[in-house]
This record gives sequence, structure tokens and C-alpha cells, in this order.
Amino acid sequence: MPVLRAGWMSRRISRCRYVRRNICGLALDPSLDSERFQATAKPEGIISMKIAIASGKGGTGKTTVATNLAYVASHNGQSVAYLDCDVEEPNGHIFLKPQISQSKPVGNLVPEVDDDTCIHCGKCGEICQDSAIVCVGEKVLVYPELCHACGGCALVCPVDAITETAREMGKLQTGQAGAIRFVQGLLNIGEAMSPPVIKEVKAAAPDVDLVIIDAPPGTSCPVIESVRDSDFVVLVTEPTPFGLNDLQLAVEMVRALKLPFGVVVNRADLGDRQTRYYCDTNHIKVLVEIPDDRRIAEAYSRGEMACEALRQYGPLFAQLLRDISEEVRVTAG
Ligand code: SF4
Ligand code: SF4
Repeated sequence: MPVLRAGWMSRRISRCRYVRRNICGLALDPSLDSERFQATAKPEGIISMKIAIASGKGGTGKTTVATNLAYVASHNGQSVAYLDCDVEEPNGHIFLKPQISQSKPVGNLVPEVDDDTCIHCGKCGEICQDSAIVCVGEKVLVYPELCHACGGCALVCPVDAITETAREMGKLQTGQAGAIRFVQGLLNIGEAMSPPVIKEVKAAAPDVDLVIIDAPPGTSCPVIESVRDSDFVVLVTEPTPFGLNDLQLAVEMVRALKLPFGVVVNRADLGDRQTRYYCDTNHIKVLVEIPDDRRIAEAYSRGEMACEALRQYGPLFAQLLRDISEEVRVTAG
């Protein structure tokens, strides 16, 4: 078993303290256009906010939206951090091209049983909700890959036979992409649980005006871990029956979490109008409709952001960021 690292333990504590809700004024110059896009002065009344970019399904353009928002915000003078929480398949680095300055292992704390001390009472197995520790006769079996590191088994053990030891699940990398602070998680191949790595990515967010979280696709635990505590969630979808079905699931998720949200329809002139109809009839704000522009796809295939390759998209994403800022400000009251 790997040796317990003090840094991991201290990170575990600081993670619990990681609650960042610092909402104030508005961000971008409303007259921003493609010619003035390279604004250098920091705008007045800048707000600090954490926004998550999510989607019910993969391939809708989530990373396109996340990276382009980071790009326009940094070019407008905001301090920005981009967190790639899609730890099974992070791809924001392809577009932002960060210089990685630090890489370190991350994971969680799992139980290790001292057979000489154990009295085989079975209490650890009874409290474990994940079947990660099981007492069978005179043997206690531990399944680290199932463990959620709640610490319950060590707490209930009457003879202190359980210690917690660190288990590496992935890597945390930090660096710089131009003016953008860059953080990404990389889940080890074959690892079943990504939330512990996602938590580490979020805990590594620097203190900046704007934190952009690129969430994994879907609506399961990793997505919930990524978007929780966000000030606003952007749901990226495409106007197809599959896209609409997954958008509906994503809307249920963010409503259950009571998070403010809006929708971005990507490749909007593709497919049908059912997505727009669904949003209108369910009082869901459509923040922007991004056209089905072949040039965006071509830029994507070259690893370039739309704002970088096609300057006319700078104003579109700048307006999207202004609208999100306004939504956050209204929600914050
Ligand atoms: S730490 Fe929690 S999840 Fe892990 S084995 Fe113990 S009780 Fe189960
Ligand atoms: S709770 Fe402690 S003593 Fe009881 S079976 Fe588990 S490890 Fe052994």
C-alpha cells in the first residue's frame, strides 16, 4: 500500500473549506466588438463568479463553449481559471495549449486493516454503504476501488485496527495558458470513480475573477460533483431528438440541485425546433444559438478556438459572457 502523504490529508481538510461564493458586479464592456476585442484595461465593476459548462451528452460543443468563454474573458481583462473536470477525457488543453508547470498524484484515503489487532466484530462492514469493506469469518476484505473515503469504518472500529492510507487515482496538473490559469485532472485508466479527482481539480482553483468549470458529459455523480457550488450552469445542447432528450435530463439535474442555469444551442440551424420549443414552454432561457458553421468544425479539428480562428465569433462569446454575468447578478439579488 502507498504511504500516507501529509499533503493529501491536508488537502482533504481544505477541500471541506472550499466554498467560494463571491458575487458582485458586472464584467464586460457591452460595446465589445471584433475590432475592440483585444481590450487590455480591466473593466470596472468586475464580478467574481464560478460557472460550469455541462451537457447531457458528449459531442455537443461543451469544451468549445468553455474554452472560448475563458478566451474572451481573459482578453477582456478578467483574471480567469479554466478547470477541466472531464477527468476521464480532458481535452481543453488541446485548444488552450497550456504550459503545465506542476503535476502531482491525487486520490483518496482507503482503509487498511491490522489483522493482529482486528477482533472480527464486523462493525466496519455493517456501516459501509459501498460494500468496500467486508468481514468474512476471521478475515476482513477491503475493496479500495469501491471506497468513497467516508472514514466511517475507522470511526466505528472498537479496537482501532483500521488506518487510512492514500491510494493514487489520478493526476492533478496545473499551468498557464496565456493569461488563463489552467487546471486539469487525469483519471488513471481503469479507475471507476472520478469524483475524488474532480474534487481535487476544484480545490486547486486559484482566486480569480472567473472560474470556468468544464464538466464531464451526462448527469451522473461526476457531473454533479463538477457543477455543485457553481454560481451558474450553462447547458450546451444541439437541436436533435437525442440532444433534446439529454437536455431534459440535464435540466432535471440542475433543477434538483437548485442551480441557476441557461441553455446554449450549438449547431442551431441543424435539426429541428423542438429544443427551442421545449425551452420556451418550460421557461428556460436560451442564452445563445451558435450557427452550424463548418469553419468552427474545421478550426476545432486543427485544435483552434472559434474566437481565435474566426474573429467574428469574439462578440458572440463576449455577449454570452455578459448575459451569464447578468444572470448571476440577478440571481444573487
Ligand atoms: S471509508 Fe467509508 S466507504 Fe471506505 S470502506 Fe470505510 S466505510 Fe466503506
Ligand atoms: S470493525 Fe475493526 S475490529 Fe471489527 S472487523 Fe472491522 S477492522 Fe476488525
